[in-house]
Amino acid sequence: MQWYTGNVFYDTFLIVGFVYAALVLVSSFFGTAQYGGRFGGRGKGIKLGSKVGWIVMEFPGLLVFPLVFMAGRNAFEPVPLFFLCVWMIHYANRALITPLLMRVQPGSQSSFALNVVIAGWLTLSLHGYFNAAYISELSDQYTTSWFSDPRFISGLFIYLIGFSINIYSDTILRNLRSLKPTPNEPRYKIPYGGLFKWVSCPQYFGEILSFVGFAVMTWNLGAVFVLAMTAGNLIPRARYTHKWFHKNFENYPAERKAIIPFIL
Ligand code: NDP
Repeated sequence: MQWYTGNVFYDTFLIVGFVYAALVLVSSFFGTAQYGGRFGGRGKGIKLGSKVGWIVMEFPGLLVFPLVFMAGRNAFEPVPLFFLCVWMIHYANRALITPLLMRVQPGSQSSFALNVVIAGWLTLSLHGYFNAAYISELSDQYTTSWFSDPRFISGLFIYLIGFSINIYSDTILRNLRSLKPTPNEPRYKIPYGGLFKWVSCPQYFGEILSFVGFAVMTWNLGAVFVLAMTAGNLIPRARYTHKWFHKNFENYPAERKAIIPFIL
């Protein structure tokens, strides 16, 4: 992995990015981001509904990467273009498909805090910039022979497994509510099926695994930054969610871990 690109702005900013990731990890142990029915709604300030909150927060994920990417000298090379496609599919799912399919309990309070949206903009802009600038401009490693490199092949394999786990688990959660939920049906139920057999938050496990795959297949520090931010945010959140399930459901399966099967 290339530790210094020689571009002073990029290299310095990436170090700042890793300091930010460490701060996010530390702060996650004092509380998780304020969104969703379980953890949102607390405190004062402007709150958005879940669908709008997700779309607005994640939009830089769809915008910054292609803008920076297209300005790069390798923008029309096959391997960088492949990574552009992976990125766009990932963020189209996160910023548009998942929120639009989300089933919101009628009458539920708007719970997506504005400060979460703003932190999301900063994070996603850094994600997009670090990866697009490296892949499309700063690196010379992505010639067509990269397609047969073991890092690319194994990383893509891990990515596809992680992405599938994420989508499948999100689908199980979505189907816990009816297509048009009524106010008197319970907002939360115990999810079963897929990796829910072993963990409370397989959707987060899948998301982290997909970024492990992305980091391996692109072999770049910008992707390690995305992975650090995602894990620093989602591992503590999974632990809060796991505790919440135990507190709210007496019959919650005792053998389930929070996020990593059999381990954590
Ligand atoms: P959640 O699983 O908390 O919520 C997703 C949806 O399912 C919400 O509509 C929620 O409703 C509903 N839901 C959750 N649990 C239950 C339940 N037990 N019974 C009924 N409905 C339920 O996930 P997040 O909103 O945190 O994340 C959504 C996606 O975004 C995930 O795939 C996650 O991996 C990804 N993500 C990625 C991040 C990253 O850093 N890359 C950061 C955060 C999320 P309600 O809103 O009412 O709680």
